[in-house]
Amino acid sequence: MSCDSVDLKSYLLGEATREERAALKAHAAACLSCRDELARLETTQAALLSVREEEIPRRIGFVSDKVFEPHWWQRLWRSGPRLGFAGAAMLALAIVVHGFAMRPPAVAPAVAQVDTADIEARVSARVDQAVAKAIAVNQQRTVELLAASEKRHQFDLRTMQVAFEEDWRMKMKQLGTLYVAVNRMEPGGGQ
Ligand SMILES: [Zn+2]
Repeated sequence: MSCDSVDLKSYLLGEATREERAALKAHAAACLSCRDELARLETTQAALLSVREEEIPRRIGFVSDKVFEPHWWQRLWRSGPRLGFAGAAMLALAIVVHGFAMRPPAVAPAVAQVDTADIEARVSARVDQAVAKAIAVNQQRTVELLAASEKRHQFDLRTMQVAFEEDWRMKMKQLGTLYVAVNRMEPGGGQ
């Protein structure tokens, strides 16, 4: 039997006949490469079978727990003033979800006794903090913009003032010239 005629797949899947199995075993006993390949495939198959038998991890159940149902963050979306800070809220949510996801598995078995109201309150508090911070940052930015705008406004005023003064000076000069001219034209005047 040559390596090419060895059908490890049918052997592993139990499709090989009794004679084929015997031939393969005999070949593997003599051929290191086929023996290694068979061992590798058997390990993979065992791993796949063990995964299939495994219970769904409890942590998945935890993340899909009541707390993460839309109701509390639907409230958040509906609340008017926070609507503008949806980005911050989403970020806060991501941090919170990340925080729960990163909890050590040892905590997971306590799922059944989880106080959802307490978690909701703590989650809401963290979201509130993030939203408050976003508002503060936004207010600071508005103050800065107003200050910049005020500065610009003052600059514009000053520019206008200077322009007006120049214009005024020019007009007074013209008026003075006109006044002198008129005086000269007056009968008996300007002598
Ligand atoms: Zn071989």
